[in-house]
Amino acid sequence: MKTKKNNTVWSVIAVILFVVSMYINYGGQEISIIKGNNNYNSNNSSYEQLFLSYQNTDDAQAEDFSDHYYLAAKDRGDCRELKGDILITIILVDDSESVWTPEAAATFKADQDKATQRLESDAAGYGIELNVQMLYLNCAIEGTFSLQEYNDWVNSALDACGIPGPKWCSYSLKKEFGYKENPVLFAVNREGRSFAHLSLNRRGFEFAILYKNMHDYRHELYHIFGAEDYYYPKETKAAAQKYMSDSIMLDNRQDAVVDNLTAYSLGWVDCLSEDATGFLQETAWITPEYVKEAYEAQSKTGYHTMEWNGAVYTGQVVSGVPDGTGTMVWENQGKTFRGEFVYGQPTKGTYTYSDGTTRTIG
Ligand SMILES: [Zn+2]
Repeated sequence: MKTKKNNTVWSVIAVILFVVSMYINYGGQEISIIKGNNNYNSNNSSYEQLFLSYQNTDDAQAEDFSDHYYLAAKDRGDCRELKGDILITIILVDDSESVWTPEAAATFKADQDKATQRLESDAAGYGIELNVQMLYLNCAIEGTFSLQEYNDWVNSALDACGIPGPKWCSYSLKKEFGYKENPVLFAVNREGRSFAHLSLNRRGFEFAILYKNMHDYRHELYHIFGAEDYYYPKETKAAAQKYMSDSIMLDNRQDAVVDNLTAYSLGWVDCLSEDATGFLQETAWITPEYVKEAYEAQSKTGYHTMEWNGAVYTGQVVSGVPDGTGTMVWENQGKTFRGEFVYGQPTKGTYTYSDGTTRTIG
């Protein structure tokens, strides 16, 4: 009897070891993905890793969206529950490219504090109680980052703030301040394309890097908590314009709202609306590879013709943003601008209006 009992115990232990090893081999691997803001850049290796998690999705049922591309990050990663009492840490980083003046920092913080009010009211609109505590930190480090390589920069910034590295960041903030969710956003005092780094792994560090032209962090924060972009590829954008045209994940403008699908991804609602279902049905064929291709197309540098905030731009582009000499045509307004652009903004040149009148700036 005793031997039989021992055998049973050993069988149970073997099963546990097997499950643990499965977790270590599959569940424990670091899988991450970058989401940009309005404009993008990709981290190829991260995308390739993400593809692994999308295998065997071909046989998904039409109404079973569990493997859908647009729900991939829901309930995954370190940041999961955007409700209750949460601590948002914004680290203002001085680096080799830019430093925060007291005035710039004050303006930036005032903008983000307003975004916090909008965030809480977004949640309240779905009957979700969300109380956000903001923590602003400053640090000065050497070096800079690119959208392809930012790990060292992030490590240095955390280190300079006395936070013990990405893997322990969330844990150490939790231990120090007692909040369950501790998203971290970095900010630099220069213009650029804000982006979020998400992880599909429980222990993966999730964060966003905000540039000073990012006046509202919500779009990036929603990424960290599971929301996806709806403005590319073009088929996704068309479907989003049809079903959720005012979504903050389609267009990060101030009057944009949290649509039902985004709310579902954030865990604010349990049921998909008819519109969200329609969107998911129309985009069910979208694969990570297809999204990656569209993402890279938007990150081009050189001379290109592309859509830009409702206009068509032809000219010099840096990382997918009109920058240099070019022409912007707003066909619906009958308006054209020819001249110089700096980070998407016309700075020097001439507008021509539908009635033939012109205006020169710069
Ligand atoms: Zn985005």
